[in-house]
Amino acid sequence: MSYRSPVADILFSLKHVAGLDEAIESGLFGDLDVETAASVISEAGRFATEVIAPLDRVGDLTGARCENGAVFTPPGFREAYRQWAAAGWAGVTAAPEHGGMGLPHSVNVACGEMWSGASMGFALCPLLSEGAIGALNAYGSEALRATYLSRMVSGAWTGTMNLTEPQAGSDLNAVKARATRAADGTYRIFGQKIFITYGEHDMADNIVHLMLARLPDAPPGTRGLSLFLAPKFLVGPDGSLGARNDVRCASIEHKLGIHASPTCVMIYGDAGGATGWLVGEENRGLAAMFVMMNSARLAVGMQGVAIGEKAFQRALAYARERRQGRSAKGGAGMSPIVEHPDVQRMLMTMKALVQAARGVCHLTALAIDRSFHAPNADERAAAAERAALLTPIAKAFSSDVGDEVASLGVQVHGGMGYIEETGAAQHMRDSRIAAIYEGANGVQAIDLVQRKLPLSGGAVAAAEIAGMRAILAEVAERGEAGFGASAEFLSEAVGALDRVTAYMREALGSDPASALAGASAYLKLFGLALGGACLAKAGLAAQDMAARGDETQLGRIGLARFFAEKLATAAPGLARSILSGAGALAPYESILAESA
Ligand SMILES: Cc1cc2nc3c(=O)[nH]c(=O)nc-3n(C[C@H](O)[C@H](O)[C@H](O)COP(=O)(O)OP(=O)(O)OC[C@H]3O[C@@H](n4cnc5c(N)ncnc54)[C@H](O)[C@@H]3O)c2cc1C
Repeated sequence: MSYRSPVADILFSLKHVAGLDEAIESGLFGDLDVETAASVISEAGRFATEVIAPLDRVGDLTGARCENGAVFTPPGFREAYRQWAAAGWAGVTAAPEHGGMGLPHSVNVACGEMWSGASMGFALCPLLSEGAIGALNAYGSEALRATYLSRMVSGAWTGTMNLTEPQAGSDLNAVKARATRAADGTYRIFGQKIFITYGEHDMADNIVHLMLARLPDAPPGTRGLSLFLAPKFLVGPDGSLGARNDVRCASIEHKLGIHASPTCVMIYGDAGGATGWLVGEENRGLAAMFVMMNSARLAVGMQGVAIGEKAFQRALAYARERRQGRSAKGGAGMSPIVEHPDVQRMLMTMKALVQAARGVCHLTALAIDRSFHAPNADERAAAAERAALLTPIAKAFSSDVGDEVASLGVQVHGGMGYIEETGAAQHMRDSRIAAIYEGANGVQAIDLVQRKLPLSGGAVAAAEIAGMRAILAEVAERGEAGFGASAEFLSEAVGALDRVTAYMREALGSDPASALAGASAYLKLFGLALGGACLAKAGLAAQDMAARGDETQLGRIGLARFFAEKLATAAPGLARSILSGAGALAPYESILAESA
């Protein structure tokens, strides 16, 4: 079974859940029209299915290879990347003056889902490049932008993000890489970075590393980090490639999944210092890096959706073919396993979780778009706060969904799921990293509780909850039988979220240990309530379409009901667990000591 780009579902979600079409029609994106946006997404879907997806298996089996500092991607990757870049896909959101298409972030996020669904190992290269383009565009000097942007936007050169060091993962206070000022205004960079995605490879002519390092007189901690650009090959004034810079790949990691994506140990400055250029201001590197991290976090959430979708497609195809036992439907011989209620439960769970997470990610993408394009400063600021609130949820909820759905996909296959040939196991191996990189999900939950809930005195979270309530009121008012008890069950979930939000805000001041202990459960609760509201909104749109004579989308009402009655019911339990505070963790030392 090969990956089929879910273009219709993506367009439906963007239009009816996130409101992209309405935003386009209101003129938010200048003269862009709905048809153009849709045709770009459809074409990306075709490219993903036809050109990238066939490489996924060979990418997993062959993996990237490192020989004497050179990294070779699996067979077919280089050619596919060149084709992908030639088609302009590296510049979907970039400004036309740099050669980009200037399209909304939400269109790019939709394309990104399909690149990752086709091959996550391939799609990681563009994902990191896109973040580097964003940071350079926002913080790079005129000269750096002129030299690098158009070549990165064309895909001729790719970008990387170098934060992590052996002693500095979640906690970047510990970054040790250092930089010194050179007489000509450039910098010399020294140090080691680990886990650098596509830090070295053979798909592009040059690699533009954005890396965090510390100047000699920098204050300690993250306030002393500066962001530098250090290319693999130094670049002449006319853009021509010159000598090799003093940065090299020492080795690549052997890892659980995404075998095609080289995860590199990078050494800077073991021959006198890598030449680097400052991006933004000295000691303000983290702010610039955050531009990359925010777009990358949403993109990683989308990876969860992408792998979940693919795992679902594979499991559904298998469940229709594989015959075991006799279902209640009866008939001669064994039944396809899809007829067994427990298999239906798994498949429905997979589909509902994927579509809920997709909705959450699309809402986040539209909020990012509005933060750039809304007509006045107040609206842009409000949208930026909404995007800030939703980003950790989009990242962590959706990547957890990817894991859960990929694991269910293995389960649907039974023993064959555990055997590599079916491909279901690869989804589970590939998806697992998304909950770890770009800020581990536990750290995302803390960010949500500590930094995002207090935004505008709690008004941003309150507005999100009010939006969910409005959708559920509409479901209740319409009284459509297909929604079952959706309004009631989802209202319980949203009510639980509301209560726990008030508790969390209070606990942040009075009992921070309890706020931190409950953070991951709180993020999940938020994701369930918001995801349920997204599906309910999709169901309402399907009902409207049916009223106009188009009954093709009515299944969305049933999917919303399934989510509300079978999955969102976890919400009150999560709330109880959060409200019980940190007491149950208190004796952890003695309890864990018994296992030593
Ligand atoms: C395949 C792969 C690709 C990667 N690509 C890149 C890349 O391109 N560029 C780059 O810079 N990095 C990259 N990384 C690094 C990645 O971002 C880090 O692994 C990640 O941020 C977690 O850091 P860590 O591994 O040091 O884990 P740690 O920080 O040691 O965390 C371990 C555990 O402790 C928890 N934890 C840590 N601190 C806290 C806290 N304060 N409160 C509560 N819990 C906490 C975490 O949630 C996690 O569960 C990549 C990693 C991998 C494996």
